Amino acid sequence: MMNKDFKSAFTERRTILIVDDEEINRDILAAILEDEYALLLASNGKEAFEQLNSHGDSVTLVLLDLNMPVMDGLTFLSAKKAIPSLRNIPVIVLTSESKMEVECLHAGALDFIKKPYESPEIVRARVGRIVDLFESSETIRMTSRDAKTGLFTKEYFEFYAPSHCAANEPHDMVAVQLSNYALVEEMLGRELLEKTLLSVGSFLLEECEKYNGISTSYNNDIFLFCGKHRDNYEEFVAKLRALLDELPHGQNIRFKVGVYANADGSLPVSVYANRAIDSIAPILNNHNAMLNYYDETLHENSMFQEKLVQGFRDSVNNGEFVAFFQPKYGILGSRPVLAGAEALVRWKHPEYGMISPGVFIPLFEKNGLIRRLDREIYRQAVDRLKRLKKECGVEIPISVNVSRVDIFDPELTGYIRQLVKEADVNPSLLHLEITESAYTENTADLISIVEGFRNEGYQIEMDDFGSGYSSLNMLTNLPFDYLKVDIGFIKNMLKSEKNILLVKSIVDIAKMMQTKVVAEGVEYQEQYEYLKSFGCDYIQGYYFSKPLPADDFVERVKKELAA
Ligand code: C2E
Ligand code: CA
Ligand code: CA
Repeated sequence: MMNKDFKSAFTERRTILIVDDEEINRDILAAILEDEYALLLASNGKEAFEQLNSHGDSVTLVLLDLNMPVMDGLTFLSAKKAIPSLRNIPVIVLTSESKMEVECLHAGALDFIKKPYESPEIVRARVGRIVDLFESSETIRMTSRDAKTGLFTKEYFEFYAPSHCAANEPHDMVAVQLSNYALVEEMLGRELLEKTLLSVGSFLLEECEKYNGISTSYNNDIFLFCGKHRDNYEEFVAKLRALLDELPHGQNIRFKVGVYANADGSLPVSVYANRAIDSIAPILNNHNAMLNYYDETLHENSMFQEKLVQGFRDSVNNGEFVAFFQPKYGILGSRPVLAGAEALVRWKHPEYGMISPGVFIPLFEKNGLIRRLDREIYRQAVDRLKRLKKECGVEIPISVNVSRVDIFDPELTGYIRQLVKEADVNPSLLHLEITESAYTENTADLISIVEGFRNEGYQIEMDDFGSGYSSLNMLTNLPFDYLKVDIGFIKNMLKSEKNILLVKSIVDIAKMMQTKVVAEGVEYQEQYEYLKSFGCDYIQGYYFSKPLPADDFVERVKKELAA
């Protein structure tokens, strides 16, 4: 569409629509203009619409008489203004009454030609001027608009939005994200996707008109809208929802709206845009929430995260990341026996104090720094194994966590092999914990990598079992030596009879597959007793001990040995 318009504007003769009820007037104008332009004729507003409906794409200008039967010029002007596809076609009014000029300007006319017509040169000059003006504005419009949505391109948005924000009235920056864009494209097809984009585009254009706004398709699935401030966006969301619902399969298309209110022009537009987009993150996985407003703490949070990332290298070098060790007890004998430990990282941050791994592990998994961090923890764990052997003469296993990001690091095996060799530690004492959900992501590759680890002699523990969704069927094909019940099951087990049975079934599954089973997060005697009666092999939890600093852990081992 857009391309055709663009081309025709430059290669074909421009078309002018002359609307006048008096034949003689039409003829005079036609005689003046026919050498240069293609002409369409109409004798009233209604006929003019008929002409525009069949030739609207190519009409460059309308010359409009005011007093006509059926539909007069002013009625035509205001009706045309309401039709988006016709709105931009310029109109020159043909009039003998100069008092009508203001009214016509308000109704959208661009210029006047006085009746009776002055010299043909003057008529041609006025017409030529408006045609040129229109074409330059169309050129801008076409290069500044994105064909898929009809909205401004990103570049134009970035150029114009600052002046909107800096206007006297406060503006809001709004991000609309189609949450299942890829799915829509894949399941419902390209055509529906294109319809969806156009619908969102025309909705936003309407909003632009109402709220003196500007809008763009920011990237594939995100739209930005910047318009006059309003107190809430419930109606905005409801309208867009209703619009999408009207499309075939439209109910399957979900979206989220994030709002940064009161952008005052004091910050770059990109900052407002990012904040509007960031405010969607907290509701991304919440099916019930469609709207969220930017909140300062979000900003603080991302600043905080940025600081953590920036300081990462120094923190590693300064020894701020330390492994703590949480003892694991074998419970099936006559009394519990310390049987190993899990290494859990702690960050002693010079500014923020002790930071929990729940805060920084997901962040470092996102940017890959986890690989460096985990190597540091593996080094400390192997060092502890070496010291246990040397100082206490015991060989008990230590488990380390292998992030899903680590697994595909081709140099990881070599690194660990080197560590174990240098420390002269038996590889079977190093247990690698891999979370269940990692197994379900990339099963075939993962299985062969994990088999590789096992061949080197390490033991594999499947962590967080029950939190992923591996079927029993699949489970029997996965290589592992220990199964760690997800902490959630243990936390909830005492809440109902059913939950207790659930834990029992998980232990049964492990037995059936002839792997050892570890329950973590055990805090109470009652949990411990149930687990023992079910035949659970090991327990890790506050019931026995919290994660301990490395030296305290060695002390603990010594004490247990003495007992
Ligand atoms: P996870 O591997 O499932 O570790 C068990 C978590 O449960 C640990 O939390 C542990 O401190 C906690 N826990 C153990 N017993 C109890 C209990 O009785 N009650 C309660 N409420 N909690 C208990 P932590 O240390 O905060 O670690 C959280 C997660 O961070 C870990 O979950 C693991 O996924 C990850 N993580 C910790 N250290 C590392 C590491 O060195 N590398 C990697 N890649 N991930 C790590
Ligand atoms: Ca773990
Ligand atoms: Ca776990």
